[in-house]
Amino acid sequence: MTDPAADPAEVWRGRVQDHLDAAGRPRLGSMAEWEVFPFEARGLTPKPLGERVVPEPSRARTADACGTCRALARDELVLHTGSRLAVIRPGGTSLVFVANVVAREHETLDGLDEAADEELGRLVARTYRALRALPGVGNVQISKWENGGGHLSVNVLARPLGVLELRGSNLPVWADMLPDIPQDEYDERAEAVRAALS
Ligand SMILES: [Zn+2]
Repeated sequence: MTDPAADPAEVWRGRVQDHLDAAGRPRLGSMAEWEVFPFEARGLTPKPLGERVVPEPSRARTADACGTCRALARDELVLHTGSRLAVIRPGGTSLVFVANVVAREHETLDGLDEAADEELGRLVARTYRALRALPGVGNVQISKWENGGGHLSVNVLARPLGVLELRGSNLPVWADMLPDIPQDEYDERAEAVRAALS
């Protein structure tokens, strides 16, 4: 029986230790066997798992050092402005299109109230449909990784139709390795997404 007073993350870490090699590395998981995994499993080495760090070092950025705040100030990158949230796009992408549903102020998901939660759901769904409707899109993936930087951002990623290797959760890894699409093509699609969100 696990001591109910124990720190669950410490219990988790202790349990994992038995599955690591002497250098602290786990074995490759079943994901490496996936058809859509971006790397050949042979020669791939997992990183060692270090000791826990508590409290965690802050990765928070102030608003003036925040890329999302900077993007919100550039009209050509803003696709929609709601009451508490907005939809923006990064300056470039290798995919068919990428949009981010973000807080208008420098705040995280933790700070939203119920009305903002509802707006978030509505905007994520509408942005998904706007990207799904673009020509040449096979599917649209949604993820929320951010909080470390201190600015809520839900990523909405449009995968090119028929490029089967890019299916699934490794889409951002593929996106990182592929060249950006031409800027005029990206800008043209931004107009279509802006119109769909208006
Ligand atoms: Zn910010």
